[in-house]
Amino acid sequence: MAATGLQQRKLFINGQWEDAASGRSFESINPAKGEVWATAPEGDAADVDRAVMAARAAFESGPWGSITPTERGHLIRRLGDLVKENIDYLAELETLDNGKAIRETGGVEMPAIANWYYYFAGLADKIQGETIPLGNSMLNYTLREPVGVVGAIVPWNSPLLMIAFKLAPALAAGNTVVLKPAEQTPVTALEFAKLVERAGFPPGVVNVVTGFGETAGAALVKHPEVDKIAFTGETVTGQIIAREAAATLKHVSFELGGKSPHIVFADADMDNALIGAASGVFVAAGQTCVAGSRLFVQRRIYDEFLTKLSERAKRIRVGDPLLRETQMGSQTSEEQVQKIMSYVDIGKAEGATLLAGGGPPEDPALSGGYFFTPTVFGDVENGMRIAQEEIFGPVIAAGVFDDEDELIAKANGVRYGLAGGVWTQDIRRAHRVARRIKAGTVWVNCYRRLHWASPFGGYKMSGYGRENGLEVMSLYTQVKSVWVDLAEKTPDPYAS
Ligand code: ADP
Repeated sequence: MAATGLQQRKLFINGQWEDAASGRSFESINPAKGEVWATAPEGDAADVDRAVMAARAAFESGPWGSITPTERGHLIRRLGDLVKENIDYLAELETLDNGKAIRETGGVEMPAIANWYYYFAGLADKIQGETIPLGNSMLNYTLREPVGVVGAIVPWNSPLLMIAFKLAPALAAGNTVVLKPAEQTPVTALEFAKLVERAGFPPGVVNVVTGFGETAGAALVKHPEVDKIAFTGETVTGQIIAREAAATLKHVSFELGGKSPHIVFADADMDNALIGAASGVFVAAGQTCVAGSRLFVQRRIYDEFLTKLSERAKRIRVGDPLLRETQMGSQTSEEQVQKIMSYVDIGKAEGATLLAGGGPPEDPALSGGYFFTPTVFGDVENGMRIAQEEIFGPVIAAGVFDDEDELIAKANGVRYGLAGGVWTQDIRRAHRVARRIKAGTVWVNCYRRLHWASPFGGYKMSGYGRENGLEVMSLYTQVKSVWVDLAEKTPDPYAS
């Protein structure tokens, strides 16, 4: 299959392919060219309602509720197989829709995504309750039941990966799902729905509604028949969703923004730390929530490290994301480029030193697309906006530190707490610093490792709830405590 654009795609609701009730559609831009390449239906509250009611019916009375957990696992495993069989196709679509280099989408992400489905397929028949020894005649046990209808709202930076984070465990636990991809990248979710259909899931178990956040996304959050919202996106959007979800007291989980500290002690293996620092922020053209966007380097090696990092940044090949030799693709939207540019201006005005990048590439062949060069700022102070605010682009803000206490204060001196990294050869310090960093993930002598089996999520304003691993199952299940009195005679409090 070759990736095709421009055809009118359809919503996937109750196993049917449908236009939006309004008849409207919207355009998706190929950001490497700055041109419209596909259209998608503009779903709104009416379509969300149809999808939610289909998911509700599938949950309450469809075949989904009566198939065994093992059969559920088989379906999810089949979905993983289909992802694996379509790696090149899905990777090309993802690259066309969001601009990420094909070596990242095809080389790393799609093969990993298949493993998300395999891992949670295996878990489907291992979700179990407990018996609790209350003593006397009482038998007390717990049932771990699905939450119900899950609304999954995902962003544009890694659409299929973020879908896997939510869909695989939600389905493993027996929920049904309405998925709302980001308006910037609607295509892969709809193509993925074709794989869901081919895998043989009953109608209504997975539904996909494309549309805008303020309409389709908001309708999903407000819908009384949605039991849980799983959201990945900006912190401000998370705050809006938390407020809106309060009206129906939905379960919510949030994976939000980050401004992660990446720490290099003077005793670190410098070559490895340089690889980590560069890839920690520049992978996916900087558009990742875990980006190691704040670099702290110990004074003795600061100048040398920054010089070498800047040289590396300048050597990264920015270009057409469909070419294998390209190391960094485009930003996903023009808005992103403008935002990054504004932060470059802010950084300069704040007194940081621009050491590499700082603007779009000069290559005229790239002038139509939304490209930005890998950017390094030195002499950054923690109070600067470029050290505090999430830029979500290929920009690293580097500063110096002397000792560990000062470092920890700086590293934690930010409202986010998604991740952090530390490079040192001192094993005691490595574990000590890992404990002291207030973040949901800490990498030691590595960075940006994600795995289906390892919990992932934020501290502080980076969100709550943990995705991946066994831990995520608590987000997609609820526990019922069942009490059974085995005594023949019921005690009567009014007997005497
Ligand atoms: P960004 O600003 O980087 O696009 P967002 O957090 O706005 O990131 O978007 C992430 C996802 O949240 C997208 O699918 C978007 O459509 C959705 N979204 C945006 N605003 C809302 C909202 N008010 N309610 C529900 N979903 C929303």
